[in-house]
Amino acid sequence: MLLEVRNLSAHLMAGHGIVKAVDNISYDLDEGETLGIVGESGCGKTVSALSLLRLIPSPPLVVSSGRVLFQGQDLLELGDEELCSIRGNTMAMIFQEPMTSLNPVLSVGYQVMEPLMIHRGVSRTEAMRECIGLLKMARIPDAAARVHAYPHQFSGGMRQRVVIAMGLSCNPRLIIADEPTTALDVTIQAELLDLMKQLTLDHGTALILITHNLGVVARYADRVMVMYAGRVVEQARTLDLYRTPAHPYTRGLLESVPRLDQDLRQRLKPIEGQPPDLARLPGGCAFHPRCPLAMERCRNETPQLAPVGDAHEAACWLGGAA
Ligand code: SF4
Repeated sequence: MLLEVRNLSAHLMAGHGIVKAVDNISYDLDEGETLGIVGESGCGKTVSALSLLRLIPSPPLVVSSGRVLFQGQDLLELGDEELCSIRGNTMAMIFQEPMTSLNPVLSVGYQVMEPLMIHRGVSRTEAMRECIGLLKMARIPDAAARVHAYPHQFSGGMRQRVVIAMGLSCNPRLIIADEPTTALDVTIQAELLDLMKQLTLDHGTALILITHNLGVVARYADRVMVMYAGRVVEQARTLDLYRTPAHPYTRGLLESVPRLDQDLRQRLKPIEGQPPDLARLPGGCAFHPRCPLAMERCRNETPQLAPVGDAHEAACWLGGAA
């Protein structure tokens, strides 16, 4: 097992109360596996990933409980220096907006070379040679000349290719990609996701893909974890989740996206209502105010994840019968 997250809870101190951004989540990730994390905006997807590497300052974020075992080491127990030796080295992140992850006053070449020089201690000449190779691998045309260019001289898609090259530079065991193509033109999204998936397959790198796009997850993830109001409400192998969704929220998400095999006259079914304020969660199942199947018990008791099939779990009082 590459990564084991156990009972992780992370709260944010906000003016109007304690925001339960991540509430007691557990999951595993194998070497080379791709895990898709899906859910609406504000469900805790990004905070759950950023808190693995302690990338949100404390305060406002407080990791109140849990363990994050990466290659057997608990990341929450490490000091800043030890954690820095993991960030960008054995574990890398790709953020949504490449312009904010690249430094505008440094050449792209320097930014790809930097992790190689810091983490692997290679010389500048060797780093430059590897950098050109990485840019070529990320399919940046005329890589040898473009290493000297600055981020503003690249298009959005090309900038994200640079970020992917940076992420892969030290051959990490895990990449966390947070909505990596959401800020890009749709025509470039598939191309970049194909590239990222191929490169992670070639290098045997595990990938956590955070997205609100169920189509992306269906195509690229081996397993899917659905989050709602800071909690995991369903997890399963991708095919099982799409064939037999067990949680009413997952069903709602699937029914609200257009499908190619759907009758064009059929209207999409949105999930009624709004996601809850994480500082004022409703009692019982947090989805009950929006759930068409809610019962009395759902208002008072919180369901925990329970098996509903082979390697398939859902947190719903109806189990797989929802
Ligand atoms: Fe709906 Fe109740 Fe299941 Fe929650 S526990 S998803 S409210 S049926």
